[in-house]
Amino acid sequence: MRRTRAIHTLLFALGALLPLVPGAVATADEDEDDIVENEPHDDLDDDEESGSPRRRRGRRHDYSHFSDGPRRVPNPRGASQARAESLGLGTRDAASHALRRSPDPRWLRAAEHHGPMPEHLHWPVDLGRFGRGFGFVRRTRPDLRHDGVDVVADEGSVIRAVGPGIVAYSDNGIRGFGNAVVIVHPNGWVSLYAHCYRTTVQPGWRVRAGERIGFVGTTGISRGPHLHFELRRNGRAFDPLHEFEGRPWIAAYRRWRDLRSSGQYEEPTAHVPENTPPERGLARPTRERRAAAEDVGQVAFLRKLIADGAGQDELEEVPGDHFSNLLWPLRGSARIVRRPRGVNLSTEPDTPIRAVADGLVVFTGEGLSGVGKAVGVLHPNGWVTLYGNAESLHVEVGQAVQRGEWIARGGGAGPVHFQLHQGGSEVDPRELFVQVR
Ligand SMILES: [Zn+2]
Repeated sequence: MRRTRAIHTLLFALGALLPLVPGAVATADEDEDDIVENEPHDDLDDDEESGSPRRRRGRRHDYSHFSDGPRRVPNPRGASQARAESLGLGTRDAASHALRRSPDPRWLRAAEHHGPMPEHLHWPVDLGRFGRGFGFVRRTRPDLRHDGVDVVADEGSVIRAVGPGIVAYSDNGIRGFGNAVVIVHPNGWVSLYAHCYRTTVQPGWRVRAGERIGFVGTTGISRGPHLHFELRRNGRAFDPLHEFEGRPWIAAYRRWRDLRSSGQYEEPTAHVPENTPPERGLARPTRERRAAAEDVGQVAFLRKLIADGAGQDELEEVPGDHFSNLLWPLRGSARIVRRPRGVNLSTEPDTPIRAVADGLVVFTGEGLSGVGKAVGVLHPNGWVTLYGNAESLHVEVGQAVQRGEWIARGGGAGPVHFQLHQGGSEVDPRELFVQVR
């Protein structure tokens, strides 16, 4: 808090001088067509506790002290990357389009993957309190509308998607927003989450309501950890607070206060390690489910699924339809050889490997002995499938895959190895394959 005040005081002092320095003041291009080139978004404004004198009405801020970095966003990869490229998502232009205009119809179709927009939105930060509202609420810039609401929470608090949709932007190229996520929802609404410590979803990723997309931070033009959240329709921001059921920020405040007063509040830490695994669809995680979600992606978690089968809690998080047979996992035919566990499929190098049924990627990489580079998928009926000896992997942990979706390529590093497990037992897959070519 002290540092915040110091910055605020410094800004005030500089603000009095800087208008005299040519070029030092942020230019105010009021053309609203291009959010990217517009005057940067700022969430500085008044600090009720600082007691510092108020700036003159309408004075432009100097933003030069504020950086949008450090840039902490996931590297594009896998199916999301391919989807983003084919839909033109992920760029500043895409962000500008999503925020300033009606979304591209192709984006809306992709946004429908996890179902329609629910009647009520999911509150984006579990313990997030109301900071500042929508509209002409700024004391230092009464002329400038605050296009969203500020949700106050500790740095590292999880930010969740307010509804299902597709990630249109997850980067820090929009001045003022810092690390930010833009999501296009199936009803055409667009949500924006700014000032993130880091974002955990990449453009093209199809999110569920309540899914983690980043962590609260103070990147960009911001004076302390908070989420700047906007909701837009046809390029216009509107007050999002009416779209939640009741007033979740009050419930969040009470829970936060009670946890603190009982000594049970834990400072967020999950944002620090760079490889926190994705948390898929855990809208209201219990302690146990959160612990399980944090293991996803570890080889130990895959071993546990193979040895013991999946628990009900885990299966509840797995999207997709139930199948009773296996789609042939390769493009093209292969010689099948039964192994003590699973089968070897001899095929051409660089052959696409497909998911045999809908499921959730729970493992990618090496570490499981004897199977080389592998993808592990958990299916909603409890199946666990393993695709080993791959040359390259095309999916990421936490990604939902559909039957037939390419997840890897193989054949060049020896036969592709495939295993099927259910309820802790290995199952001979040969009788279950369909569309063998
Ligand atoms: Zn704000």
